[in-house]
Amino acid sequence: RAYSSEDLALFSRRMLCSQPLWAGMDIYYIYLNRWKKRFFAEHPEYFMLRDGERVAENYPNHMPCFSNPAVIRQTAADIIKQINQSPGKKCIKIFSDAPINLCQCPQCQAMPERQLADPELITSEAVYGFQKRIADIIHQSHPDVYFLTQTKGKSYYAPPQLCKLGERFTVNILASPHLCNVSSLSFAVDVARQWQAAGQRSMFFGYPRYTDKPTKNMPVMTPQFNAEYLRLFAGLSSGTISSEMNFNPYSFSALNQFVQARLLFEVNSDVAALIQEFCAFAYPGAEKEMAGFYQAMEQLYIRRRDISENPYYDVYSADKLAAPWAWLNEAQAKVKDDSQFFAQLYQDFQQFYEGSQKEEENSRKLAAWNEQRLQASTGTLKLPLASSALDWKSSAQLWPGALKLDFSAPQQSEDFQAASLYLLCDSAHLYLGIVAQESNMAALQASCQENFKGNFWNDDNFEIMLVPDKAGSYEQIVINANAAYRVLTQPKTRDNREFQMETHAQKLAHSWLLSMKIPLSQFETAPSAQPWHFNAFRNRAAGAKQNSGIRMLGPNFHILDDYVKIIVPPQNH
Ligand SMILES: [Zn+2]
Repeated sequence: RAYSSEDLALFSRRMLCSQPLWAGMDIYYIYLNRWKKRFFAEHPEYFMLRDGERVAENYPNHMPCFSNPAVIRQTAADIIKQINQSPGKKCIKIFSDAPINLCQCPQCQAMPERQLADPELITSEAVYGFQKRIADIIHQSHPDVYFLTQTKGKSYYAPPQLCKLGERFTVNILASPHLCNVSSLSFAVDVARQWQAAGQRSMFFGYPRYTDKPTKNMPVMTPQFNAEYLRLFAGLSSGTISSEMNFNPYSFSALNQFVQARLLFEVNSDVAALIQEFCAFAYPGAEKEMAGFYQAMEQLYIRRRDISENPYYDVYSADKLAAPWAWLNEAQAKVKDDSQFFAQLYQDFQQFYEGSQKEEENSRKLAAWNEQRLQASTGTLKLPLASSALDWKSSAQLWPGALKLDFSAPQQSEDFQAASLYLLCDSAHLYLGIVAQESNMAALQASCQENFKGNFWNDDNFEIMLVPDKAGSYEQIVINANAAYRVLTQPKTRDNREFQMETHAQKLAHSWLLSMKIPLSQFETAPSAQPWHFNAFRNRAAGAKQNSGIRMLGPNFHILDDYVKIIVPPQNH
């Protein structure tokens, strides 16, 4: 039946998922698309200046000019109008939807936040400072409203030093939403600590069962990981903005809800005991079988390595669901007749399982393709030694003895453009060579001419990920067909412009080539003591967009655990 809003609110409160005023977004104010229609013709100066032109594009070039007082006044006026129309609205979020570039106008570049040394901190300072200036105006007439902001990857995440957001602001810390391993959350935890040290209230923004496509209506049953997750942020943060309260089939989320509710009181509760307690209540007579079912389901989900478009192809393929389905059928034989919980779960899961069985053939084909294409990058790969006569600027296809790894993509596509990476080393250098086939060289995007200048992600590019120490920082090199590059250090620990590398590029009729010579002395650990994690990805912009990698499991480029491992064998000199 349909529930009234009072019923839903009561249910929400009983499930411990009610939100304080400062946490529930009532107004989401964004610029993307909306401001362009309203103002671009008449007020181009409201928009960001990039490379000499005012632009209102998709992100990261979708922001207004932060230094223009008229932008701040207009934004505040728009929000005040909305609050006055609906006085019950108390919590406002201003953009924070994507990574951004900053305006290059002289007034913006002269702002105090832009004078800081660290290029990544500058974005944080600019974003939060801009939001604070808008909030200050709104607070003059509406002192009781709250503001939400968030961190966005490495684009903006650090507490500002030049302003204090204050108690009317809450910061959502973006955490890896789908992956169930603690290492994928380490950056978010570090960021949460920084905001705590800055005295700012935060919530975490992410959850194994996130509300978007990869988990919507899925039987994501992860009680053990949810406990780990909550323990990780306990004491650092004032709550979570995602939880089980999100209209998934109730039978799929009942256990998670039960466990979560108990963990909110005692985060160190024994989760196995809670599962037993829930099963005894919901599935009397089949406690053991249902505990087995839940364990099998959690194991499936936490092994998920990356997000596939269709979960029936990976985490919930029919062959993997067979074991939990067997547990459910054993439980059916034992559960007492009056368990409504069981009947509903059985029905929902059966439907889900049948959906997966329909995809079985496609899933099998994909699994075979992935096994074949990932074979060469599995295990620890020894780097061959470069001869002293190596002409590193020559086409890497000609490098004697080089280790060759081909680029591939998780989903096969028509018009796939092949590329190969070549690796060599000597005691002082790592040599990387790339040969990229390109059937449409006329459309090759290569606008960036200088290192560190311009938007390399709009160009055809390769991203090289060097991870000397998986627990520590890593270097992300983005390089285009002009051999121009940009380096990002993640997390930010030093000035990226200090990164040393020689590069060389060639554009041919149907391919383009890159060569890189990277001194090893700039890294704390050489790949001889223990393996480095390593990866390379291609982002094709010419013709149909296409992403591939030497070891690419899914669309996320930053799952370091799944990278190639490379090691330099001992050398005699
Ligand atoms: Zn500006």
